[in-house]
Amino acid sequence: MLHSKPREDNYLHKGLRKQLVQIIREKGIGDERVLAAIEAIPRHFFLDPAFERIAYEDRAFPIVADQTISQPYTVAYQSELLEVKKYDKVLEIGTGSAYQACVLAELGAMVYSIERQKGLYDFVGDFFFLKNYPNIKRFYGDGYAGLPSYAPFDKVIVTAAAPFIPPKLVEQLKPGGIAVIPVGDDSGQKMMRITKDKDGDVHEEELGDFVFVPMLTGKNK
Ligand code: SAH
Repeated sequence: MLHSKPREDNYLHKGLRKQLVQIIREKGIGDERVLAAIEAIPRHFFLDPAFERIAYEDRAFPIVADQTISQPYTVAYQSELLEVKKYDKVLEIGTGSAYQACVLAELGAMVYSIERQKGLYDFVGDFFFLKNYPNIKRFYGDGYAGLPSYAPFDKVIVTAAAPFIPPKLVEQLKPGGIAVIPVGDDSGQKMMRITKDKDGDVHEEELGDFVFVPMLTGKNK
């Protein structure tokens, strides 16, 4: 399968990646560690070879099973809000292409990522590049349930549009933890940052506007 074969990352790709980082920086991302992770990861590996240049435009792009690889700016924005530290346990809902998971892994997180679509989950399982990140664990399941057996988490990131803040994900957050979740419907979502303080009290902040594919209930075979 195409996705299983190693691909080349040459000076052209690296040059395009530097330009992409510059664009994201100009859009307001200031966290140098996040920018370095975007610069390190060959985003074209996540797309069909026909889309090598498009891979370095700052936009979302369709992958298999009607799903998308998120826009690099959005990936950087969510990653910055999460304030990822080395060895943080991070729960991600919506593995998709695994691009966001790789950015978190590059930041040193222990990533636990759930995908509800079996086809997509299997597709990513063949992906040669993931062998570089033994700190990513993938699960086929329903993100609304989180991963109670691995909880609590330092951080939670949802990369699909949630109609409301999923209560189990907040439950599975450690005191002092941060969750970043786009909340809304198909017409658009607000990025919400949820922080749990040391006493377990939860605070919500409403941030910018985004558009994600919907967070659906249940698993899909
Ligand atoms: N993080 C991804 C973006 C994925 S798009 C990336 O970097 O490419 C959103 C993903 O969330 C899709 O793959 C979709 O199938 C998945 N998804 C939607 N609802 C879900 C749920 N309840 N549990 C787990 N995954 C879900």
